Amino acid sequence: MTAPYNSSAEVMHFVAGAPYAGAGTRSQAVFNPATGAVARSVRLGSPGDVDAAVASALAAFSKWADTPPIRRARVMLKFLELMNRHKDELAAIITAEHGKVFSDAQGEVSRGIDIIEFACGIPQLLKGDYTDQVSTGMDNWTLRQPLGVVAGITPFNFPCMVPCWMFPVAIAAGNCFVLKPSERDPSASLFMARLLQQAGLSDGVFNVIQGDKVVVDALLHHADVRAVSFVGSTPIANYIYETGAKLGKRVQALGGAKNHMVVMPDADLDQAVDGLIGAAFGSAGERCMAISVAVLVGDIADKIMPKLAARTRELVIRNGMDPDAEMGPVITGQALERIENYVALGVDEGARLVVDGRNCKVTGHEQGFFTGGTLFDNVSPDMRIYKEEIFGPVLSCVRVDDFAQAVKLVNAHEFGNGVACYTRDGQVAREFARRIEVGMVGINVPIPVPMAWHGFGGWKRSLFGDMHAYGEEGVRFYTRQKSVMQRWPADMSRGAEFAMPTAK
Ligand code: NAD
Repeated sequence: MTAPYNSSAEVMHFVAGAPYAGAGTRSQAVFNPATGAVARSVRLGSPGDVDAAVASALAAFSKWADTPPIRRARVMLKFLELMNRHKDELAAIITAEHGKVFSDAQGEVSRGIDIIEFACGIPQLLKGDYTDQVSTGMDNWTLRQPLGVVAGITPFNFPCMVPCWMFPVAIAAGNCFVLKPSERDPSASLFMARLLQQAGLSDGVFNVIQGDKVVVDALLHHADVRAVSFVGSTPIANYIYETGAKLGKRVQALGGAKNHMVVMPDADLDQAVDGLIGAAFGSAGERCMAISVAVLVGDIADKIMPKLAARTRELVIRNGMDPDAEMGPVITGQALERIENYVALGVDEGARLVVDGRNCKVTGHEQGFFTGGTLFDNVSPDMRIYKEEIFGPVLSCVRVDDFAQAVKLVNAHEFGNGVACYTRDGQVAREFARRIEVGMVGINVPIPVPMAWHGFGGWKRSLFGDMHAYGEEGVRFYTRQKSVMQRWPADMSRGAEFAMPTAK
């Protein structure tokens, strides 16, 4: 078993290839959510620190952009090897600051590594199109060039995987990157910065500025930041998109979610229960692809509820480093309070509280930020516990009569990140995948996070912008297309042409 991560050193920034203390004087406590104790502190950057990071990225840009893609890919390949070698250390850092169970943290790192592996294919991904003889003696080709300095702002719930949705593709495509990780679990970013340096990445190509809104606003308003990728809650995603777009930047801003799983009457009951329990309570429900609503169609509801209740009560809730743990703590004391307030609200709104996860105590971790799994039945679409993102281990069950009602319900929700349908009927599954207004769909797959080469993104208020993260859309986001037409006629003396040129 990997040792728990215990460093008490203050978490710094990383600029121009070295740890950077910065000029800012503010800092913030970083907690171990399992014990509730302050484990270390993190520097909170100032606008001057952002200037320093962007200047270092800008200084590195032209040389890095001119580096042949295959040589950039070789740096990524070395980084890939190092990430694989140090996977468990990184997973232990994540568990120490986020609280998720160690095997889940390992899974997060693996999914991040997938994107690095994808980015190693950048020479092929950047290959342009060429048309010979678009007009007599003239050829036309397109190429994609990097944007310059680009920034990534990431949430607490995936401190390794979500940054990996961004920087490997951005850097491989020839950009220089400034990452602003979540201030709640900042150490994974520095660990990756050091591995990138060991992999031979030139100084300044990857920088980290720790901090909060001050840093985010400085990045958004910085004239040399060409594009911003954001992942986090919907109100902030909306703000980032509007502000960035107004300032002329390219923006992709992925927001919050309320993911439904529709369980059809013909579904395999045990598979559906496994799917729901894992997807609702894995990572304590703090996943943007967590299932927070079960839509129970017809008579499956009465059959599935007792099984869901039993499994929710049996959840093994412990420190995430305990090998038996199925669910760890939530991220902060405030998050715990918010989640448990939602449980009280659900009761007030008239939902039936089947399993109450409040007041969960884990022996030896009495001050930890633990809440148990909560299960509600008879939730209706007008309730706030249905409409709003709780982002904790709370599963709301809504009963509907038929498939059409289920589809209508899902499509009416303001969020459209992920969705799943459990059924044994191929026709129902096909209709579901075609009609549902959600960006990522699982058929008998509870958490359909697309693989590295497919790209990740929701619909509606779960994504602001046009491009999904990573995959080919990620390559497009971090590059701009240029078209070149060229001719080398022996005789250049054709004179001025005043008509719109056409193929000759
Ligand atoms: P958050 O919105 O609070 O924070 C995200 C980032 O924005 C952090 O780096 C934070 O420092 C910064 N930030 C916070 N407040 C800000 C403000 N007022 N102005 C500017 N920047 C600000 O999100 P979180 O609590 O860290 O993460 C959980 C949220 O992220 C959930 O809503 C979850 O659904 C969402 N999420 C979405 C996806 C997705 O792909 N759609 C993936 C992961 C998480």
